Amino acid sequence: MAFKNTYLEGIFNKVCARNANEPEFHQAVEEVLKSLEPVVEKRPDIVKAGVIERIVEPERQILFRVSWVNDKGEVQVNRGFRIQYNSAIGPYKGGLRLHPSVNASILKFLGFEQTFKNSLTGLPIGGGKGGSDFDPKGKSDLEIMRFCQSFMTELAKHIGPDTDVPAGDIGTGAREIGYMYGQYKRLQNEFTGILTGKGLTYGGSLARTEATGYGLCYFTEKMLNDNNDSFKGKVVVISGSGNVAINAAVKATQFGAKVIALSDSGGYIVDNNGVNIDVINQIKLVERLRISEYAKRVPGSTYTENCHGIWSVKCDIALPCATQNELDKASADTLVGNGVIAVGEGANMPSTPEAIDVFINNGILFGPAKAANAGGVATSALEMAQNSARLSWTFEEVDARLKDIMTNIYKNSAKAAKEYGAEGNLVIGANIAGFLKVAEAMMAQGVAY
Ligand code: NDP
Repeated sequence: MAFKNTYLEGIFNKVCARNANEPEFHQAVEEVLKSLEPVVEKRPDIVKAGVIERIVEPERQILFRVSWVNDKGEVQVNRGFRIQYNSAIGPYKGGLRLHPSVNASILKFLGFEQTFKNSLTGLPIGGGKGGSDFDPKGKSDLEIMRFCQSFMTELAKHIGPDTDVPAGDIGTGAREIGYMYGQYKRLQNEFTGILTGKGLTYGGSLARTEATGYGLCYFTEKMLNDNNDSFKGKVVVISGSGNVAINAAVKATQFGAKVIALSDSGGYIVDNNGVNIDVINQIKLVERLRISEYAKRVPGSTYTENCHGIWSVKCDIALPCATQNELDKASADTLVGNGVIAVGEGANMPSTPEAIDVFINNGILFGPAKAANAGGVATSALEMAQNSARLSWTFEEVDARLKDIMTNIYKNSAKAAKEYGAEGNLVIGANIAGFLKVAEAMMAQGVAY
């Protein structure tokens, strides 16, 4: 779909020229700018203040060398990044991704998305993202530790509890956060909530591990309820088998659904009896093996190579929870052909723009990532609040707040969609609701002359 507004099209063309060869960043910017067409018509003050020209440019981009020594005594060199995207409404906040595909384009798209997502949570957090092209797969514990320490030795110069508070993401779980936190503390000699997703013995929040997956299901359930439906009795397919996917599977099952498929980057498993979460946890979290192992251990289940094939498994609800652009138009057509009624994005930007068009044009309930997966960062902000107050809340307290936050994100996104002439379109609603709060703050804070 082409731009209807020439002012926004001009901004987008400049973004592409200035950030050449960054397709993921272009994709994320294009989606948000197209959603802002009705805002530009209603709010000349935002145009006059140059908010949109400013918001497509990260405030600061940090790029650094991470050298470390592997178990054979060989020197290894990776690239470290931190994109401090926007601090209009709070300190930069967003995860650290450790994956060989990491580059400036991917981290800028994630930082840009994070800015609006964090705004949607209603909490005072700005947007950021970081990570490295380091591949944790196949590395020993000691190699992971040496990498994390080297990475933090540089990152520590740029972050702080009131400046920038990173968290986990793909490849960065509790183990990596622990090693990074230990190094930060050694260097700075202070015990502050500089990272979220910490272990429970040193400042982590109960329910943070579960938050993104649980939050995704709270959001999706709310979206279904608003359309006189629910998870109960539904068949669910979830891509990925990491933090977000596993916890989404747990909550969907608690809501009365049957989760029949999960995947990793190698392929997918189908278990028509409903996947056994204990077996998945043992394979993925304890033994750190491939998901193919599941089919060897659970009679009646199957494993198929090629992770994209998961979208051919017939289901009522699809929850993409692996990575960006994992669900394309052909997969969306297949899902719709198989009778899917709702799609909730757990990963960041998992559906291509063409796939989103298929869902919207076919009236499928669609929960976009920046709204549906905001539960993780929202709970990270709750972890920051507990750290500042030197308190820790119970699981039930954090979970109840998470549920409220996800309900409010759903309501605010639906309301903004209606107000701006796109009732029922949560992509447009979430983009507008997230944008407006950041825009108001940027206008109030002025431009530095
Ligand atoms: P994990 O590292 O725990 O799990 C990632 C999962 O996705 C793994 O199963 C992995 O398989 C699979 N995967 C990764 N890359 C690919 C690929 N190129 N193709 C197919 N599968 C792939 O990460 P998380 O669960 O934390 O994150 C998943 C998504 O959710 C990401 O988009 C992340 O940005 C987003 N997210 C995470 C939040 C969090 O709180 N953790 C918060 C909000 C969003 P394999 O092991 O084979 O690589």
